[in-house]
Amino acid sequence: MRKFKTESRKLLDLMINSIYTNREIFLRELISNASDAVDKRYFTGLTNEAAQVDRGELAITLAFDPQARTITVSDNGIGMSRDDLERNLGTIAHSGSAEFKAAKEVAASDEAQIIGQFGVGFYSSFMVASHVRVVSRAFGSDEAWAWESDGVEGYTIEPAERAACGTDVILTVKEGDAEDGFDGFLTEWGLRDLVRRYSNYVRYPVRMEVTRTRPVEQPADEADKAADKAADGASGEASSAATSADEVAGGDAPEAPAPSDAADASDEDAATPRYETYTEVETLNSMVPIWKRRRSEVTTEELDAFYQSDFHDYEAPLKSIGVHAEGSLSYDALLFVPSHAPFDMYSRDYEKGLALYSSNVLIMDKCPDLLPDHFMFVRGVVDSADLALNISRETLQRNSQLRAIASKVEKKIGAELAAMRDGDREAYERFFQAFGRCLKFGIYTSYGAKAADLADLMLFHAAAADRMQTLREYADAMPEGQEAIYYAFGESREHLARLPLVRAVREKGYDVLLCTEDIDEFCLKALGSYAEHPFVNVADADLDLATQEERDRAAETERENAELLSAIRAALGDEVEKVTVSARVLDVPAALSTTGSVSLEMERLLARMPE
Ligand code: ADP
Ligand code: MG
Repeated sequence: MRKFKTESRKLLDLMINSIYTNREIFLRELISNASDAVDKRYFTGLTNEAAQVDRGELAITLAFDPQARTITVSDNGIGMSRDDLERNLGTIAHSGSAEFKAAKEVAASDEAQIIGQFGVGFYSSFMVASHVRVVSRAFGSDEAWAWESDGVEGYTIEPAERAACGTDVILTVKEGDAEDGFDGFLTEWGLRDLVRRYSNYVRYPVRMEVTRTRPVEQPADEADKAADKAADGASGEASSAATSADEVAGGDAPEAPAPSDAADASDEDAATPRYETYTEVETLNSMVPIWKRRRSEVTTEELDAFYQSDFHDYEAPLKSIGVHAEGSLSYDALLFVPSHAPFDMYSRDYEKGLALYSSNVLIMDKCPDLLPDHFMFVRGVVDSADLALNISRETLQRNSQLRAIASKVEKKIGAELAAMRDGDREAYERFFQAFGRCLKFGIYTSYGAKAADLADLMLFHAAAADRMQTLREYADAMPEGQEAIYYAFGESREHLARLPLVRAVREKGYDVLLCTEDIDEFCLKALGSYAEHPFVNVADADLDLATQEERDRAAETERENAELLSAIRAALGDEVEKVTVSARVLDVPAALSTTGSVSLEMERLLARMPE
């Protein structure tokens, strides 16, 4: 037995126990290695005519055996010689792939997209395996070698057999209790799920032989008879169909009902299909990442299907947004604006973020740094080969690249929403109904240019118009002489529209924004003004709309009724600050208004909030 070097042993221990937080990534690492090996095999063929290989022949194969507790990851890639096994698997943190990349100058080109770089991924197998056996035959060699290890002490290398070049990595899965989830890896669905989640876009097929059942087809003439008979409604001749199904199904159909006595057979039996089990090889991954395909080649149906399956939504998205960036930082992104808010959108449990891929391999399910809070409803993926990943590939090493991508993504989403606002108002209104609240929170929590951009994405109901309008539209429709943007805040629009204070402003020919959401007023206060027009609550006492004449008349009425006013004041006591005669001509006897920066509604809201 060859021992791992001491440093290696320490490192291995560290690896297995602390680098990875998530043991299920072992399969991602092994498939990535297999993909690299196949890529290298292909690349070798490109530079050496004798080694040419048809891309269609290259593949990764998974197999599992629950009895023996093994999972096997095979590839027909470049393979490893005895020396390679020693160097690459016997030395931790030695990456043959990184060397290959450097030697062959294969950057992340279209021809080869080597994933490996740190030389540690392979060891993640020991998180789930008590024993690992690697059988490999290098391309161009006629010997095969087997590398074996229990992960702790060291490894052995011995001669082995393999028909052609390539590698099999055979894991013996640890025993554990249900909580460890080891047994789940030994099932078709467990493996399929891991492939779909982490390696769905690996560029080579990941195949697995699966067992299925299917109804046994009846020979055509027998089926006809059965059908005729069923049509006749006769019951005497049921035996022929039942017998023929039995013959075809043979002993292979454990789930088929036992053939009944011919005399008992009913019409139903004749029509009930028998089942048999069979195996077939299935490709588990979809390979071509839809976000890397040219937009003109992808149909809306494909985009919708991708969104619905990968982001688990029963409805198609309202909008999809593709981004392809090349240059100092290349990345592709495919973003979706859902058509409705998920049920937990406004709860603490909601996690924002975009899926982050590097070289087609999933790094993070929901990378929160890629989305600002006010666009937290956006779903999608970002894929960049340029990201500097942390050794575990679970976190990112430097955030500057990520920040650069995030800021581009944010701009793009903003621009697309603005385009929807201007181009398809109906869709935009649906969007705003679902997610307007996020934008409002965004305004409340940001400043300057960002808040101003978001302000332009807002829609408001107004008293005069039926449809919702933007602040720009409100401002453009302001008559000569109107300085402020008026708004009223309350429980319902119907109620607000009837409010005397609102009607008084409207009589001036000014429209009033009718706000019914808690956040509205906070948001308008945070903005302060739009296009230099201050926002003014119609309930503000110092609303200065009256003409001099009206004001003079009000002052006179006040003098004349001084006694009445002080009586009312006395009756209301601390409930009000003052009682005056309004300069505004209202067709109601009395109205409440506020002074200071906290409106009546805001005060109510604040009173409702927990301490
Ligand atoms: P990395 O992939 O980051 O280089 P790994 O620990 O995953 O690190 O793998 C170490 C090295 O072992 C790889 O660089 C590669 O040279 C070699 N290797 C691993 N798996 C295979 C395989 N299936 N076929 C050929 N070589 C492999
Ligand atoms: Mg690797």
